[in-house]
Amino acid sequence: MRHAVIAALVGCASVAAAQQVKRGAVEPVDVYRMAEPAPPAKYEREGKTITNPDFFCTECAKDKRIPYQAREEMKDILETVKRFPADVEGEREMRCGAFRLLEHDAGEILKPLFGEFKEEKAIFIEDGFFRLFADFDGFHTKKPIYPRRTVELEQLAAILPHVSDKTIVLDAHERAHLYLLRAHRVRRDFESVVKHDPKAPYMDFLGPYNGVKQKHEIFIFSKQSQAGRFMKTFLGHSDQLDGECWHTLGDDSMVAIMHCEGITDVWLNNTFTHRVASNMLEGFRGYQYDLPPWIVIGFGHVMERRERTDYNTFFFGEGKRPTDEWGRNKWKPAIRKLVAAGKVRPLAEIAALPHVNDLTAEEHGIVWSQVSYLMQLDLEKFGRFVHVLKEKKQGESIYNLEVRALDEAYGLSIAKLDEAWREWVLKTYPAL
Ligand SMILES: [Zn+2]
Repeated sequence: MRHAVIAALVGCASVAAAQQVKRGAVEPVDVYRMAEPAPPAKYEREGKTITNPDFFCTECAKDKRIPYQAREEMKDILETVKRFPADVEGEREMRCGAFRLLEHDAGEILKPLFGEFKEEKAIFIEDGFFRLFADFDGFHTKKPIYPRRTVELEQLAAILPHVSDKTIVLDAHERAHLYLLRAHRVRRDFESVVKHDPKAPYMDFLGPYNGVKQKHEIFIFSKQSQAGRFMKTFLGHSDQLDGECWHTLGDDSMVAIMHCEGITDVWLNNTFTHRVASNMLEGFRGYQYDLPPWIVIGFGHVMERRERTDYNTFFFGEGKRPTDEWGRNKWKPAIRKLVAAGKVRPLAEIAALPHVNDLTAEEHGIVWSQVSYLMQLDLEKFGRFVHVLKEKKQGESIYNLEVRALDEAYGLSIAKLDEAWREWVLKTYPAL
């Protein structure tokens, strides 16, 4: 049974999604209790060199902030061995974390990224869970000022001690480390929701990166054209996309690609949070089948709208663009209006949609609100809900899986959830 799960990991489908980001109106964020902020990392130093680094960074290597010149010198630190409690295809263990990107030897991808693709300042950082490639400029941390600035600068100072809460402008290298810290924040929050336990029996035969066999990969480009060229060259996808979330079939990694052309850092942070959070959810306990689009999209919006409510990331199927401008105004009154007018499809229909691009622009708002409702109703139950969604039985349809997950976690049917959610919207969302 468990061996079949491993086999299924290799054979599963990949998902692509195009994106359009739109500026919306500001409304207060909804609050969900997730993880506490991570305390700043503790490193030992000799002079400016960190003697016990748990990450490789091309810039830190150049500056001698880490004692290694090449990523491969850190193999023992950055790679791991997954030990199974019983043999899998005759093997009791699996080496994980080989230096790969997009199913290539990482060098084959990094060479052009640091060569002909380079736009601003190309930087690559890898730690025990993520591989981050960033090619962007620095940014002004007070334009606009954002709520986690102090905490983030403190965390950053643990790696780059010249940074303090007095630092106004972060350069490209500092910003790249900041994004790695942000990726870990999303990961911690997600893990707190599902109460992830790497030693739990359900993880016994899965990959060490929350269930996938390779690290989560993140690529941030400074220009759309650069991101487009990258997706076309290495994935064979349209070069018109703003980015995508992707699961690699052979390597079993989750990939998030995006660009930050003409957008502020708080905007990039929203897009980044949405994409990394979606990949956390999809890759958790292994990527064996696509989760229902309303849950993945809804969860992505919940996570980014915890950051700010005015930058919303819209995922549509490859090549398809939204035809309307929904999402530019405050979401809550707009959703309330749709519910009051009876213009929202029954959840039973939305829950049966197989593809991300079956959701209309305004349904991005609807599914955000539905997932937000489930999470605000009971975050622990939501964690349970996610776990059941990852426990599809042989022959069970995705729709029946949703029905079972809702019942097991919340004791709700789809119809009952739909009804309760509509009441909640009418009761708690402002009219205008
Ligand atoms: Zn560095």
